Amino acid sequence: MGKSEKHTQCPLCGHAFRTSNESGYVTLGRESDLCPKLPGRQSDGARTLRAEITMCPRCAFAALEDFDELDFAPDLRYAIENLLEDDGLIKVFRRSDPPWLAFHSAEVCGKERGLSARGLGDLCLRASWVCRKERERPFENTFQLRAIRHFMRSLEEDSLEGRELSVTTYLVGELNRRLGHHREALNWYVNAGKTVGENESLAWLERMISEQSRLAEEEAA
Ligand SMILES: [Zn+2]
Repeated sequence: MGKSEKHTQCPLCGHAFRTSNESGYVTLGRESDLCPKLPGRQSDGARTLRAEITMCPRCAFAALEDFDELDFAPDLRYAIENLLEDDGLIKVFRRSDPPWLAFHSAEVCGKERGLSARGLGDLCLRASWVCRKERERPFENTFQLRAIRHFMRSLEEDSLEGRELSVTTYLVGELNRRLGHHREALNWYVNAGKTVGENESLAWLERMISEQSRLAEEEAA
């Protein structure tokens, strides 16, 4: 785990600033929604996850990608700027800058940038992990719902296959279970199981599907 400072420039407003560049982190396994278990306090974990995303301190543009790789046409830049200025959550939380805000902003910008539904769902899933580590339950649930919606659209539109198809289907089940939608969850676990088939590299997922199905059945009873 290394920490270094890096100069970066916002692709939207041109603001130059420093970001801390954390190269990877040690995990102690994953929770059942794939949230990494991290050493130390929960709030340290939230900060570690937050460090994976960059947000411009001036205009709040955010992305998981390296800012140096991004370059927008003037029309798109203008459209994203307007979205950021009008966004209610960014307006309210800008000053306190909770660790989930960058993921929310990246989702807002990502929709306009035409990111895939899978990518948008991933941003919301990460936001829900950060909220859990920060014990922000209502926000955690909001992001779980948003992740479910993106993942379901992704299953229809993104022509996923292999590991990505199985994991995405499983996550729709697992996020539903966490929201208390147990019947829904059980159906999605069944769907996920069907996509795993004979794929031996997904044995871990098959195990998780049967464990979480049992749990959902107990919780539903
Ligand atoms: Zn900016």
